[in-house]
Amino acid sequence: MRSIGYGASSDASRVGVKLIHPTPAARNMLAADPPPPGEGEERSDFRMTPLEAEIRRIIAVDGPIPVAQFMALALGHPVHGYYAARDPFGARGDFITAPEISQMFGELIGLWAAAAWNEMGGPGRVRLVELGPGRGTLIADALRAVKVAPDFREALAVDLVETSPVLRQRQQTALAHCGVPVSWHASLADVPEKDPLIVIANEFFDALPVHQVVRAESGWHERMVGIGDDEKLVLALHPDPILNFPAMLPANLGTAPIGAIFEWRSDALVTDIAGRLVEHGGAALIVDYGHAGSALGETLQAVGSHSFADVLERPGEVDLSAHVDFAALGNAAMRAGARVLGPVTQRQFLRELGIETRAAMLETAAGARAAEIDAALARLTEAGPRGMGELFKVLALADPKLGALPGFG
Ligand code: SAH
Repeated sequence: MRSIGYGASSDASRVGVKLIHPTPAARNMLAADPPPPGEGEERSDFRMTPLEAEIRRIIAVDGPIPVAQFMALALGHPVHGYYAARDPFGARGDFITAPEISQMFGELIGLWAAAAWNEMGGPGRVRLVELGPGRGTLIADALRAVKVAPDFREALAVDLVETSPVLRQRQQTALAHCGVPVSWHASLADVPEKDPLIVIANEFFDALPVHQVVRAESGWHERMVGIGDDEKLVLALHPDPILNFPAMLPANLGTAPIGAIFEWRSDALVTDIAGRLVEHGGAALIVDYGHAGSALGETLQAVGSHSFADVLERPGEVDLSAHVDFAALGNAAMRAGARVLGPVTQRQFLRELGIETRAAMLETAAGARAAEIDAALARLTEAGPRGMGELFKVLALADPKLGALPGFG
């Protein structure tokens, strides 16, 4: 997980309702060349990342850009984006995710997929699609665990959706001897639309670009990234309110006070997943950190080298992520005709799948290292700032013809 606690990075004072006007005067100011690294800066540690220089050029030409576009560039720029050139996981990386904490996580998700396949009637061909597989640890653990279900393994083809060349390489290594055909795609849209499918996404949606909108007297305004009077990147609001935005807001947020922030993401991906499940059959499992019901508030955070950073600083070199709004995902999936299960807490999901029994088995075999398994179990299932058990939620989407799926009560 973005494993160093949550929420602490939100700074209410930054909610400010200052408006950036992309007027000609501002554009001239914005068009000024960015100061070269090390020059014109008082902070001695200042070093402009190559991506910041590029973002400044974009702002100079187009004016301030939405926070969502900034996030998309910071994570996904093909050369300078955070995921383009690095493996950010693990004890020495920026953060650690559930499959990197323990093999139990991927194993149980593999068994969940086998159960879903059974529920689908055990089709002779099924695509196991993972969105953003990181190091490939989850899928490797899952494929090993489903050796207990040879008919399922026999039916499987694995499709990995990954943009990062570095991580694709890691995934290739992790799956080198998995015994199942594997292909890679840049987006779900590239995964062929045939065969029933089972989709897995762990800590993927939190990395998708999030829009921030702020309530002002004049209505809801998109929050933008521009260049401030001091030449630094700055957050400010688009001068014009978004037309009809109140109609898009979840009903429970209708009375937001001035200064309130709401974060939202495009529904396109979840709508695509749900549409495929309805048309071809199957199920999807989405695990992420976030909230079960839509809520106001700013959750966008930056993490680098195991500590929080400013979201605007060192773009491309720190990880950006924001809470997932599970209600929004579920509603979009239902609109597309899918059945929605959950969200439930990660603790409930993993316990129902038998993580405690699995941990006990591994501990018996582990001897002196049993304490490590116990610690991993606690990390995955407990509440509190270091535990993932409650902050992380699990949502399943399914073809409405499927019956019950394990983990959801
Ligand atoms: N699921 C993994 C990794 C989570 S990090 C784990 O739990 O350890 C997010 C992953 O999604 C990385 O593999 C990253 O390269 C990939 N990613 C991020 N944005 C993406 C996008 N828009 N399209 C495809 N992959 C993306």
